[in-house]
Amino acid sequence: MATLSTPLGKVLGDKTAAALTETLGLATVGDLLYHFPRRYAERGEHTDLSALQVGDQVTVLAQVQRVNVRPMRQRRGNLLEVTVGDGQRTLTLTFFNQAWRQRQLTVGRWGLFAGKVTEFRGKRQLNGPDFQLLSDPGEAAEDNTEIEEFLGALIPVYPAAATMPSWTVARCVRVALDTLEPPPDPLPESLRADHELVGLAAALHDIHRPSSWQARAAARKRLTFDEAFALQLTLVQRKARAADWPAVQRPRRTDGVLAAFDARLPYQLTDGQLAVGEEVAEDLARPHPMHRLLQGEVGSGKTVCALRAMLQVVDSGGQAVLLAPTEVLAAQHHRGLAALLGDLARTGPAPADGELPLGDEAAGATGLALLTGSLPAAARRRVLADIAAGTAGIVVGTHALLYQGVEFADLGLIVVDEQHRFGVEQRDALRDKATQPPHVLVMTATPIPRTVAMTVFGDLSVSSLTELPRGRSPIATHVVPGNRERWMERTWARVREEVAVGHQAYVVCPRIGVDPTDEDADEGAPADDERRPPLGVAEVAPQLADGPLAGLRVGQLTGRLPADQKDAVMRAFAAGELDVLVATTVIEVGVDVPNATVMVVLDADRFGVSQLHQLRGRVGRGSAPGLCLLVSEAAPESPAHERLTAVASTVDGFRLAELDLEQRREGDVLGAAQSGRRSHLRLLSLLSDAKLIAEARDEAVRVIEADRELTEHPLLAETVAVLVDEDRAEYLEKG
Ligand code: ADP
Ligand code: MG
Repeated sequence: MATLSTPLGKVLGDKTAAALTETLGLATVGDLLYHFPRRYAERGEHTDLSALQVGDQVTVLAQVQRVNVRPMRQRRGNLLEVTVGDGQRTLTLTFFNQAWRQRQLTVGRWGLFAGKVTEFRGKRQLNGPDFQLLSDPGEAAEDNTEIEEFLGALIPVYPAAATMPSWTVARCVRVALDTLEPPPDPLPESLRADHELVGLAAALHDIHRPSSWQARAAARKRLTFDEAFALQLTLVQRKARAADWPAVQRPRRTDGVLAAFDARLPYQLTDGQLAVGEEVAEDLARPHPMHRLLQGEVGSGKTVCALRAMLQVVDSGGQAVLLAPTEVLAAQHHRGLAALLGDLARTGPAPADGELPLGDEAAGATGLALLTGSLPAAARRRVLADIAAGTAGIVVGTHALLYQGVEFADLGLIVVDEQHRFGVEQRDALRDKATQPPHVLVMTATPIPRTVAMTVFGDLSVSSLTELPRGRSPIATHVVPGNRERWMERTWARVREEVAVGHQAYVVCPRIGVDPTDEDADEGAPADDERRPPLGVAEVAPQLADGPLAGLRVGQLTGRLPADQKDAVMRAFAAGELDVLVATTVIEVGVDVPNATVMVVLDADRFGVSQLHQLRGRVGRGSAPGLCLLVSEAAPESPAHERLTAVASTVDGFRLAELDLEQRREGDVLGAAQSGRRSHLRLLSLLSDAKLIAEARDEAVRVIEADRELTEHPLLAETVAVLVDEDRAEYLEKG
């Protein structure tokens, strides 16, 4: 008998085992049994032949409809052409010099056909495919009828590899299942009963060889639960452990910089900001590190929440760092914080010894430093010295800060802004920067669907800002057909109108220049041969300046510009010295120019839903209403067009985040660490398994509360260990 960890060679023989290892990376019985079918075919069921893509390696179930042999025109030999169909569509199979196969491939026979899809004269075909015929009902058993014996009514179709046909995998699976000693079930009986989950052994059998769709659904549910549960156990355990780490307490003081700052704040904090402020203040005062996620719509005022937390830490003698995803945003944050703090901050280098040191709270001010990758060497040295000496109480920087030799005197708080993929491993890297684990606040404006929050940020506590500060203006969004001249004229006229009354505009392009490799690092526009190249800032800006926007002051901003120039452009725009800023998505996050009222997004269909929502959050930040024009040549009714219409129809970030999730691969959403875990998340879908994930979460909390280290549940502990191990391995590889 075999167990899940038995090497495949013991069960299948060395040759087959080696082939499975080579083609599919499977080494043990467990690997094979957790290699799930992609789908199931049913005889008579319509396989969707119309969905076949040229170049795909496919396995289809179809019936022979026509057979024809003809001599080749250009060379010697003959060609056997077999037309197979599923009732609606047909597919041509071609076999070179194999006329004898006519005897097998008789009209009316059903079979599985596997090969790579090619196209010839507009017709989809498989050249020389592998095939397995099913027996005719009522006919005496033939050599290949065994296929049904082990396949049953629902024929599993495995992710195919050219040299490893689906039915070979199916046959190996059957052998493995037959020799498998039923594995012990890591899920406690009571938990299974509560959630109506079938046993592990049954689930592993039925996911491969279901006797009915119901059996298959039950198997899937159980195995999906396992995935969600293992993940949640890991995260909840992490959270529980972290809650016990020691941290320096940073209690609030009534006579420090924070109090002075609050007293002079130019506006009233919203109730939400006050509530978040309380949560954070309490966390910081505890002897354990805060791990908190602050979610809030674009413009909900997260920055001031972060600043108040940072000041609380400064007041207690520690340092705080604010990390931004781009240099533009870091520079802007630095400026913004300096403006908010006024003379409560000193932004220059620390004075020489003996003079009043920067950040001495006795002086009622804190040092505020900017550290980015592009700082000139001398300035960088000075900033690093201030950070090491502790005179820079607040440090603003890009993530590069993490990876360069920065030493803090007493790092008490790390704030991470606008980085919704800031996963577990980056948080680990940060922790190493302090002698004691620092408090961590992660901020995001991208609303996160609950399931993603539970998975990606499952080890964080969550605070939300749901209201926007009063006086915020509405944003109207419209989709503009880019190939209709009249509409485009009207678009540029709107920009001119806004500028005429003293406002400013953004024009966003997917690319920097025409060169197809010319992309800003943080952009996602996929290469697509069939469409014209996406519009680039470098071409669009001069065209506008000489054409429809002639006479306006037009500037350019891309990730390619040297940091000081980027900064200069942003400053000029913020100061109103430019009317129109043509930019890539570098302005996606955080850029805050309240006087900007129009945004035109060119080739809008090249952007994701969340990205568009983020972008439009750049307008309507002042007292005048915002206008966002999504220009696209996408055909009406095309999915791209529908996506844009959806963005135009709502400003509900959570609704849009869900829409976005529907359209992206989950690996993208989960980010590095979690995509490493993908090998353990085969079935789980963040979108369709939301309920199951929530159930798994609740169970995980219950189990970990009672038994943090899982000593009572050795099998569960093992599952978790595997997951964490893999996570580690991934992380180390990258580091
Ligand atoms: P986000 O949450 O998108 O990071 P910001 O922190 O950049 O938002 O805030 C957006 C704008 O709202 C800023 O100009 C900020 O000064 C302003 N703001 C923040 N809080 C308030 C408030 N309570 N009342 C009025 N304006 C506010
Ligand atoms: Mg922000």
